[in-house]
Amino acid sequence: PAVIVAIDGPSGTGKSSTSKAVAAKLGLSYLDTGAQYRAITWWMVTNGIDVTDPSSIAAAAGKPELVSGTDPSAPTITVDGTDVAGPIRTQEVTSKVSAVSAVPEVRARITELQRSIASAAEKGIVVEGRDIGTTVLPDADLKIFLTASPEARAARRSGELKGADVNATREALIKRDAADSSRKTSPLAKADDAVEVDTSDLTLQQVIECVVTLVEE
Ligand code: C5P
Repeated sequence: PAVIVAIDGPSGTGKSSTSKAVAAKLGLSYLDTGAQYRAITWWMVTNGIDVTDPSSIAAAAGKPELVSGTDPSAPTITVDGTDVAGPIRTQEVTSKVSAVSAVPEVRARITELQRSIASAAEKGIVVEGRDIGTTVLPDADLKIFLTASPEARAARRSGELKGADVNATREALIKRDAADSSRKTSPLAKADDAVEVDTSDLTLQQVIECVVTLVEE
């Protein structure tokens, strides 16, 4: 039977690197749900939707067509056929994604897409996000909640962003987590039956081993 693994947590905890590596090791598909929220945000910004107005966001939520490629060694994301893997990582999209993903119509649309992708994965899938274990796939076989200290998270993000100011990165991360944790519809949260793993003092290899062991148990 297909194995469903949900990996949730805030950014900078090693969620994406861990999820991709675990999926590759176990021969499973992989879905980055943050990329989907970033892609719909990119589409809204590009099409002149006022992302400070939830009713404008709600009215446009059904328009773009999002397609996610689920091979963990080469994940892809397109909007209306355009590859947006690069543009969804800009500062502009990052600063606006929490507001767009707080709108219930956006979450309903993307949650439905995530469930259909997960049920189509023949061998199973690793799905990473903020509300996978609580809302999207509450019957997952294994739920992991990754955490890390704000310092460890900011250091990792700054490393990825090459040359970005660590303090500014830390402030932006804390602000985005606060927004993601306080929204009314399926906030960033640990499911009651999730295994919490603090990655602050672990290497990526150690986190991967830990999760693979939990899947195989
Ligand atoms: O994981 P990543 O940092 O790329 O996620 C970008 C944003 O997408 C998050 O800050 C959050 O606002 C939103 N998101 C969400 N629910 C998910 C995944 C991401 O609301 N399951």
